[in-house]
Parts: sequence; C-alpha cells; structure tokens
Amino acid sequence: MKLGTMLGDVWQSLWKKPITQKYPFERIEAPERLRGKLTWNPEACTGCALCNKDCPADAIEIITIDKKAKRFVMQYHMDRCTYCAQCIESCRFGCIEMSDEQWELAATNKVPFEVSYGRDEDLAEALAIFAGAEADPTE
Ligand code: SF4
Ligand code: SF4
Repeated sequence: MKLGTMLGDVWQSLWKKPITQKYPFERIEAPERLRGKLTWNPEACTGCALCNKDCPADAIEIITIDKKAKRFVMQYHMDRCTYCAQCIESCRFGCIEMSDEQWELAATNKVPFEVSYGRDEDLAEALAIFAGAEADPTE
C-alpha cells in the first residue's frame, strides 16, 4: 500500500464512527436464519431416526420409550453439533428447528451441552432406564 493511500485511510478512520459493537452491553437483533441451538418437537416425531443417521457429528440420539405410542426422547450433544442443519433437512416431519434466539451457548463446563428433549413423562422414564442400566453391572 502506498503511503499516501494509507494516510488517507487513517485520516478517514479518525472521523468515522467505530463499527464494533459494545457487546454484550449493546446487541443487534440476530438474523432470522441464524443457526443456533436445536429445538425439537416430540409431537410429530415418528422415531425414524433419520436425523440421527444423517448427522455427521453424531450429535443426536433418539431414545425410544414406546414406539407404538410414539414416545421418544431426543438426546442432543450440543458440544458435538456443527450447526450444519442436516438433521432439519432429513426430518420429514418438521420436528427439528434451529433457534435464532438461543445462540450464546458458551459455558465453562460440559453440563449445559447435554440437552434432553421430550415430554416430561418420557424424560422421566428415559432417566429411569439410564439409571437402571448404570446400576446393572451386567450391562
Ligand atoms: S445441525 Fe448438523 S451436526 Fe448438529 S445435530 Fe443437526 S445434523 Fe448434527
Ligand atoms: S428425523 Fe424427525 S421424525 Fe425422524 S426421529 Fe428424527 S426428529 Fe423424529
């Protein structure tokens, strides 16, 4: 860069307002198509597990509580998710979406990255299944 050009840029930038934001004190609205945390609607889920099979990061597990009654739980390993949106493409029933509001996802430990989605009664049952499996030394 020529010295004259550089000085011109410096001079201009002295009079321009900074374009940086004072985040987190000032926030602009997130774009509508921002790829944030996955959300899951269990009501339409058929348990086909396509989301799980197609996820390149192995970030989704579908746990079947009762297939006939269409009772499933989704375990979302958020720390593995690359936000590629393949699971949304794969789900033919529109169960999975990405939140444009939940995107400040940093944490100091792994606990918030293990997300369980489902109806309350199904989550309780899935928890009981896991607790039983952990207690059983033959598993
Ligand atoms: S967004 Fe991509 S990486 Fe994340 S769960 Fe869906 S398919 Fe897997
Ligand atoms: S692809 Fe959709 S319907 Fe199939 S298991 Fe995943 S969330 Fe459920």
